[in-house]
Amino acid sequence: MKKNIKSFDLEDLKEEMKLIGEKPFRAEQIFKWLFQDKVMSFDEMTNLSLELRQKLNENYSIGNFKIVKMLESVDGTKKYLFDVQDEEGNLIETVLMEYHHGYSVCVSSQIGCKMGCKFCASTGIPFSRGLEAGEIVEQIVAIEQDQGIKVSNIVYMGVGEPLDNFENVMKSIEIINNPKGLNIGARHISISTSGIVPKIYELADKKLQCTLSISLHASNNAKRSAMMPVNDAYPIEKLMEACKYYIEKTNKRISFEYALAKDNNDNLDDAKELVKLLSGMLAHVNLIPINHIEDGKFTKSTNENIIRFRDYLNDHGITATIRRELGSDIEAACGQLRRKNIKAQ
Ligand code: SAH
Repeated sequence: MKKNIKSFDLEDLKEEMKLIGEKPFRAEQIFKWLFQDKVMSFDEMTNLSLELRQKLNENYSIGNFKIVKMLESVDGTKKYLFDVQDEEGNLIETVLMEYHHGYSVCVSSQIGCKMGCKFCASTGIPFSRGLEAGEIVEQIVAIEQDQGIKVSNIVYMGVGEPLDNFENVMKSIEIINNPKGLNIGARHISISTSGIVPKIYELADKKLQCTLSISLHASNNAKRSAMMPVNDAYPIEKLMEACKYYIEKTNKRISFEYALAKDNNDNLDDAKELVKLLSGMLAHVNLIPINHIEDGKFTKSTNENIIRFRDYLNDHGITATIRRELGSDIEAACGQLRRKNIKAQ
């Protein structure tokens, strides 16, 4: 298999150029062709010599995806099904959303997911592998190309656990953030995790300016473990310690995701417990009316309960907002993405 040229960050690509006997500045030229001009072949990189273009063709793939399907929601949200063009014919899903402040892409970080959250559609499909950095950034490149747009926000909230594919995700952030790459500011990138505690410490030490979202969903261990098996390995106390360390290191507010399910985690006692847990922290709570998935036992809270929950938090010093639902009619809303188990032919 040839190496995917989109998987190198700029520094690595400079090293790679040296290895094939080229000057490091070639890496910058290639980077620009890949991520700003978004060409689909090495032959279009016209400021490189024919000899170099040939060398690139021989040694690297350019990592283009094939669009298998694109579904459009009534609210304008678009869901892409990509063929990643690997030997197994793997397919992945990516979502494009339009907000008043610009376009946002929700990327997948793995093919399948190991975390097993009980309310999520990505569960139950066998885990295959982590995506390469090039396969993460290609989701954005392919959508910008297809739509003729510039994307301004990236969320790592598609299929997979980003902190379980740490190195590749970090590399993809470097490419997305690099002014010579996709040039999207770190403040416009969010990483969401189910709570892999050691990796939260590692991320904190990198002091990135990205937003960290923690999928909390419950305010005590019994309820959280029933929803998220990861809580058995990293219970709430350990998770909160890691979050405090993250805030201390980065000085950044953490966004806590809380999917409200009827008669499960949406009553006032839950809200009270959540206030206790987050009081005094630099935190924001994002309430998501849980999306019902096939075979799932969790159903959406009533609007009344959702508003009551939000108001309780706000009245007790915790800022909370209700996330707007986008793309639910095309199964593109939170937790609805899944690796399609049909493989490409
Ligand atoms: N593995 C990462 C990122 C993927 S999930 C994580 O767990 O954070 C992205 C977000 O969607 C998470 O907050 C997740 O808990 C939430 N989610 C999953 N299933 C959902 C559902 N059925 N309804 C609402 N949100 C859901």
